[in-house]
Amino acid sequence: MNKIRVNLVLFHHDLRVHDHPPLHAARQAELPVIACYVFNETLSLETFGFKKRSHLRHAFLLQALQDLNASLAKLGIPFYVVDSMQEFKTLPVWSYVDVNAIFASYHPGSEEKSMVEQAKNVLNIQRVHMYWNHSLLHPGDYPFLLNALPGRFTDARILIEQSSKVRPLLPIPQPQDRPLVPESTILPSNSISPIIHGGEQYALKHLHHYFFETKTINTYKYTRNNMLNFLDSSKLSPYLATGALSPRKIYWELKRFEQTIEKNVSTYWLWFELLWRDYFYFLHIKEGDGFFSLSGSSSHTNLWETNETYQRAILQAKTGYPLVDANLMELYLTGWMSNRGRQNVASFISKSLRLDWRWGAALFEHYLLDYDVSSNYGNWQYIAGVGADPRENRLFNVSLQLKKYDAKGDYVKHWIPALKDVPTPELYQPWTMNALQQSMYQCAIGKDYPHPIIDDASIQLR
Ligand code: FAD
Repeated sequence: MNKIRVNLVLFHHDLRVHDHPPLHAARQAELPVIACYVFNETLSLETFGFKKRSHLRHAFLLQALQDLNASLAKLGIPFYVVDSMQEFKTLPVWSYVDVNAIFASYHPGSEEKSMVEQAKNVLNIQRVHMYWNHSLLHPGDYPFLLNALPGRFTDARILIEQSSKVRPLLPIPQPQDRPLVPESTILPSNSISPIIHGGEQYALKHLHHYFFETKTINTYKYTRNNMLNFLDSSKLSPYLATGALSPRKIYWELKRFEQTIEKNVSTYWLWFELLWRDYFYFLHIKEGDGFFSLSGSSSHTNLWETNETYQRAILQAKTGYPLVDANLMELYLTGWMSNRGRQNVASFISKSLRLDWRWGAALFEHYLLDYDVSSNYGNWQYIAGVGADPRENRLFNVSLQLKKYDAKGDYVKHWIPALKDVPTPELYQPWTMNALQQSMYQCAIGKDYPHPIIDDASIQLR
C-alpha cells in the first residue's frame, strides 16, 4: 500500500484552532495534515509527593481535548490522543501515512521539549518546525534579546510598552479533504465537572461574556483583588494554560472593547497583567532548569524547613488562619484560588512557615486548573524571595490581609462553615476569642476550628 505523505501537528498547551501558528503553517503547506496529542508521560511521577495533575484539572484538560477534536473534525483533520510515547509509537495510523514534518509550538518545559524530540525519533524524521505561540508578544518584537531580559519586571515592561506591538491574529485554516486514515480517537466522557468548562468554544464564549455581554472588564482593576465572586477577575487563565485561548485573541478583543465601548485604567490593567504572564514565560526560557532550583533566579541560600506538622496542616486546610484555610479549601474543592489568595498562601508557606517553596509550588501544580509551569514557579520564586527581582522581604500578614480584602468575612465564611457565626473583628484572629465568645459564636478553638500552627507574632516579625 502506498503511504500518504502528511504533515503532523503535535498539540500540547495550545488546544485550539484559532490563531494557531503551527496549524496555520501546516495547512499552508501542500500536504494533508493529521494531528496528535500525547499525554504527559510523567503524570504518574510525583513531585514532593504530589501527582502532577488532580482529577479536576485532568477533567478540564479532557474537555479541552474533546472540543479540539470536534473543531479538527470540521477541518477534516484526524486527531489522535494517546496516553504515552509508547502508544504514540504503535498508533495504527503510521501504517497509512509517512510524516514529512512535525509542526509544534515552542515551550520551555523540559518535558514538552523532550516530547517533540521523542516524536521526531519515533517517526525518524529531521524536519521539525517550531513556532512561538504561548506569549502575547513575539520575542522577535522585543526591544532586547531574551538573554538580556531585565531582572525586574518593571524595567522590562517599560521598554516593551515603548516599542513592541502584538501581532495580528491568524485565521482558522480552511478545511481539507480528510485523508483516508483510521478514525480519530474517541475520548472518554467526564464524570467530574470543573467550575469552568474547558475548551476553545467555551473560552471564546467566556471572553465575549466577560468583555461585551457583562462589560465586567470595565471595573477589573477595582475587583481583581476580591476573592468571592466568579467575575472578580477575568478567569481567563485556565483557558490560557491549556491554550484554548490565544493571548493575542484576548488582546485584540480588548482593543475592540476600548475602541467601541470604553478605554480606562481597568482595560489597561488587563494588558499589564498579560505582560506579567509573558515576563515569567521569557524568564523561564532565560533561566532554563535553574528556574526550579531552591535559590530560584537569585543567589540566595535561605534556610528552609521540612516540617511534616506544618505540611499536614496545609494539606488539611487547618492552619488556624482563616484566610489561608479558606483559600486552601477553595483550591482543594474547585481547583481555583484567586491571585490574592495565592500570594497570601505562598507567603505563608514560604515565609511564615519557612517550608521549601518548591513544595508549595508542587501543591499548586497538582491542584490549579490554570497550572502553567512558568507562571506558577515564577510567582512562587517572587513571593518566596528567590526571584530575579530583589524585593525578597515581602511578607503578607494574613490576618491584616483578611481584614483588608474580606472585611466582612463573606469569603472566609463561605469556605469555613465553623466560622459562620464569628463576627469581625474576632474573625480576623479567632484564637483571641475568650471562652464566652467561643460559646456564643459556636466555635470552640481547638475543636471546631484549629489553634494557629504558629503564633501571630512570628508572622509579624519575619
Ligand atoms: P486576571 O487577574 O483576570 O488576569 C488576567 C490574566 O493575566 C491572567 O489570566 C493571567 O494570564 C495573567 N496574570 C495575572 N496575574 C499574573 C501573575 N501574577 N503572573 C502571571 N500572569 C498573571 N497563573 C497561572 O496562569 N498559572 C499558574 O500556575 C499560576 N500560579 C501562581 C502561583 C502563585 C504563588 C501566584 C502568586 C500567582 C500564580 N499565578 C498563576 C498568577 C495569577 O494568580 C493568575 O494568573 C490569576 O490569578 C488567574 O486568574 P484570572 O485569569 O482571573 O486573572
